[in-house]
Amino acid sequence: MRAPDGSNRAEKPMSVVEPGAASRVTAGVTFAARLTFENVAHEFSPGVPALHGVSLAANPGEVLCLLGPSGSGKTTLLRIAAGIEVQTGGRLLLNDREIAGPKVFLPPEKRSVGLVFQDFALFPHMTIIDNVRFGLTALSRPEAEKEAMISLRRVGLERYAHSYPHVLSGGEQQRVALARAMAPRPSVLLMDEPFSGLDSRLKDSVRAETLAILRQSRATAIVVTHDAEEAMRMGDRIALLKDGRLVQAGTGEDLYQNPASLFAAGFFSELNVLPARVSGGAVDTPLGRVPCGDIGDGQRVDVAIRLSGFDLHESHGEVPARILSRRFLGVVEHLEMAVAGAEEPIRARVRCGVLPSDVRDIFLSVRPSDVLVFETERENA
Ligand code: ADP
Ligand code: MG
Repeated sequence: MRAPDGSNRAEKPMSVVEPGAASRVTAGVTFAARLTFENVAHEFSPGVPALHGVSLAANPGEVLCLLGPSGSGKTTLLRIAAGIEVQTGGRLLLNDREIAGPKVFLPPEKRSVGLVFQDFALFPHMTIIDNVRFGLTALSRPEAEKEAMISLRRVGLERYAHSYPHVLSGGEQQRVALARAMAPRPSVLLMDEPFSGLDSRLKDSVRAETLAILRQSRATAIVVTHDAEEAMRMGDRIALLKDGRLVQAGTGEDLYQNPASLFAAGFFSELNVLPARVSGGAVDTPLGRVPCGDIGDGQRVDVAIRLSGFDLHESHGEVPARILSRRFLGVVEHLEMAVAGAEEPIRARVRCGVLPSDVRDIFLSVRPSDVLVFETERENA
């Protein structure tokens, strides 16, 4: 039932389901559990760490989003949680029970953990009900069909039970994959970029449906994404990874408002970054003087200003600017401006219609809540 082939992409549907879990749980609800990563490290080859001691917990019933750029270790962490990759350091706990550590290794089918892959991985030659009951081998056929039907009903697709996957839209196939992973009633559901295969129009509705199903099932869920907006839409909390390290964990609002680093800030907002040096508890930038809190004098800093943090006016404001380019984007427009003393053009996003179309010389003001200051030295990882 495993796909321990070691490769990152060759994920087989066999690893999606856990027959053991189905035989253990008979009640109609999923019992959510806490999944804890304790100092989890992983090296695919000796001396090349893919994960550096990640400590993180998904609380019972919460949706935790693992967010990070490509190669940051999200899939590896998920495969370790599922038991299809064995970490080289640290341990995993399901509630208080160790499921993987130096001396313990529970195989995937014993973990009560379900996995949904990026590409859904449905078997095209099997009916939808057969796809969903695929992992329920510990049950008799009628029992397995009954459980599979319950799971299909949960995702609203029971009418397609005896059809084949090709008749379904991408969004519906994604829901079948979710039904399959949930059929054994896992305590923790793991989803690896579950919406990346859907076109952008479908994405919003499938994401909302999936979230509703997760809430209803009350399962603990870990959802991987590289899209900060998706993480904010879905996650009760977000764990941001970079280069195999946990950068910051918190609510979407925490991470947006109080990012721990320039990297974290840049993941949640498009930024103008102005290098500067602290003097007298503040820095002078071409856009004005910015207080630096308790960062010491002489320290080099990066002042980051969100593109959405500008007020632009034709006749009044704090800093004169000349428009270099404007691009209409529908609700908003994107502008590049020259500002005296700034080496690079300053970029901004403002609502369309704020500025007359023929204006060239304007004034800008920066909203203090959209200005973030980070010590440059901290930002070398
Ligand atoms: P993400 O899912 O965030 O894109 P991954 O977990 O897939 O990141 O990869 C993390 C790091 O581990 C990357 O540097 C990647 O190249 C490496 N890696 C992933 N899978 C394997 C593998 N099977 N063998 C060797 N290196 C791997
Ligand atoms: Mg991945």
